[in-house]
Amino acid sequence: MNNNVIVIGGGPCGLEASAQLHKMGYNVILIEKDDHLGGHLAKWDRLFPEGIPAKELLDQLTGNINGVKYFLKTEVKSINLLDKEYNVILSNGITILAQAVLMASGFDLFPAQKKEEYGYGIYDHVITNADLENYFKTGKDCRIKQNPQRIGFVHCVGSRDEKAGNRYCSKVCCATAVKQACEVKEAFPDAQVYCFYMDLRMFGRGYEDLYLKAQRDCGVRFIRGRVSEVAEDLNKQLVVKAEDTLSGKPIKVTLDLLVLMSGMTNCSAGTRIAEMLSLKRDEDGFFTCKDTIFSLQESDKSGVFYAGACTGPKTLPDTLHEARAAALAINNYIKNKE
Ligand code: SF4
Repeated sequence: MNNNVIVIGGGPCGLEASAQLHKMGYNVILIEKDDHLGGHLAKWDRLFPEGIPAKELLDQLTGNINGVKYFLKTEVKSINLLDKEYNVILSNGITILAQAVLMASGFDLFPAQKKEEYGYGIYDHVITNADLENYFKTGKDCRIKQNPQRIGFVHCVGSRDEKAGNRYCSKVCCATAVKQACEVKEAFPDAQVYCFYMDLRMFGRGYEDLYLKAQRDCGVRFIRGRVSEVAEDLNKQLVVKAEDTLSGKPIKVTLDLLVLMSGMTNCSAGTRIAEMLSLKRDEDGFFTCKDTIFSLQESDKSGVFYAGACTGPKTLPDTLHEARAAALAINNYIKNKE
């Protein structure tokens, strides 16, 4: 019997699971569709709540996969169960027989242009959370004025939104918005920063402190209410209309920059593999695990396992915990087969 385990997805989840499986003695083959490892983490600047540089974590994760064979710019062309092993054909022509397959395919960011009323791709000064991280990393984005005086954040873009087809909460975008609100205030100390939110979901350890810092030290103004309309005036300034649901009054603010907090959606690459293996998915398109208490890492197909955001929005620490739990579940499964 071969000792191969295939891990699909080279983001933080796939990297951590690969490192753990390699330590357990498996021959791990990691498949990544992009030309780099690290997934979304590779494009991020700093992580909430403490503001740790994303690069530090990524360097640690990639440094732990010595000995793991990985293929970049590679996709799974076909996958099927032959007796008790998975026969996987890759887009680079290589065929692998594996004892188990781990789906660590992660998530896609909700495409903000789908919410036309917010003006992404229409107005010059509307960007997303991912664009802002890229600006923090590179210092470049021609949509951000040199010294913006009024900056707004819209929470729940493409999440908790029946019209967008996503009723679920993306879990991480409240804390990301509060982190980014503090960071823009540090970058542009004269700016007034607004957050438009429905509820604030600051559930993790250290998140409440971040929220207090945003209010007390950075003077971020939190406005409870959904933005109903964004337009541009003749001076190319954004005019944002919303209802303050706490005061019950409509409000209108003029901004130099609007940041849309795009949520997580199911990963399109994972969707293709789900079809090949007939894996169950929920109404939101995420993979459905065997049960949500004891078998979070198991699929309905023997030998196929899940970890991370492919089963729903997750924080980074949750993702890494699931990666380790999946490695353990795979080890138990293969040992019981022998
Ligand atoms: S975490 Fe916050 S911003 Fe994100 S979907 Fe949930 S409530 Fe909305």
